[in-house]
Amino acid sequence: MGYNNRLMADFDQIGRKVEGGERLSFEDGLFLMETTDLLSVGRLADVIRRRKNGNRAHYIINNHINHTNVCVNKCRFCAFQREKGAEGSYTMEIADVLDEAGKGYNPLVSEFHVVGGLHPDLPYSYYRGIISALHSAYPRVHLQAFTAVEIDYFSRISGMSLRETLADLKDAGLGSLPGGGAEVFAEKTRKRICPDKISGERWLEVMETAHNAGLRSNATMLYGHIESAEDRVDHLVRLRSLQDRTGGFMAFIPLAFHPLNTDLDDRCFTSGQLDIRMLAVSRLMLDNFDHIKAFWIMISPAVSQLSLFFGADDIDGTVVEEKITNAAGAQSGKSLSISQLEEMIREAGMEPVRRDTLYNVLRSEPSAAA
Ligand code: SF4
Repeated sequence: MGYNNRLMADFDQIGRKVEGGERLSFEDGLFLMETTDLLSVGRLADVIRRRKNGNRAHYIINNHINHTNVCVNKCRFCAFQREKGAEGSYTMEIADVLDEAGKGYNPLVSEFHVVGGLHPDLPYSYYRGIISALHSAYPRVHLQAFTAVEIDYFSRISGMSLRETLADLKDAGLGSLPGGGAEVFAEKTRKRICPDKISGERWLEVMETAHNAGLRSNATMLYGHIESAEDRVDHLVRLRSLQDRTGGFMAFIPLAFHPLNTDLDDRCFTSGQLDIRMLAVSRLMLDNFDHIKAFWIMISPAVSQLSLFFGADDIDGTVVEEKITNAAGAQSGKSLSISQLEEMIREAGMEPVRRDTLYNVLRSEPSAAA
């Protein structure tokens, strides 16, 4: 069989599985990750996107707060981290966190997204204090805060179990967990890019504990550094297995690696081809995830808009201030207005749906093409 015929036969087989709602295998994922026929991958991903989300594309009005960049870890891909006392290091007092939350706040803001470094000296009460102060000042705003890596750290510095830590933060007002810190689960690659970070297994354990405690979360993968296609598919399959057990993940967000000011600065920025492929293959492999998010800060508003044709149904939010990706050279700016986000979606022929963190619809406006 010639190359083109083989390609068509493989796509036919995967296409039949997609049409029939059958789960794709690791080998199918690898094929989709490596084939040159990106448009066919996108067409299949679009079938699933439509099945799960119709003509709707989501966004949220949120505000990112990064309370400290001081961190005991030294992930090689991280441009945000500073040693304590080093030039450029900062740590907000809880009052500063409230000031930051107030910047750009308006009654449409439905989420504060809070993540930061693992500070060597701050006690657990500082992190809990952030949550309770924000919750008291803004009781209507959902607090999506602290990655699984931070939760693991809090459990260690507080002496509480994971379950107790999560229950205590939930008591203070925590609403859900973001999906960061997952990076790449494959052990060898993970050790090379973030040797100090918790293992992929531990990341999954924290998420399983959170889901069982009634806290939902997102999931991410950092791609475009030194990982292989096998690592990417392995990551998706492990997330899918956990989701089978808990159903606690809301969205999957592939995060494009940004090399500037990192230890891996000999790498290139990710290509549009890879950004779009990651979203499409994620949509196809993660049959038990409702949402795939294209984070425009990482891949630009232009590529995010195109990704709506390749499996994504969410372009994240208005994001008032974001420091982590901007430190690593993101060119997308720090915020988009509501009308810019809605126009991006409408121009793609879809219906802009403003959502809250848990994907409840806050406002939708059917597009002319709907
Ligand atoms: S990625 Fe997170 S854990 Fe790693 S060095 Fe940066 S702030 Fe610390």
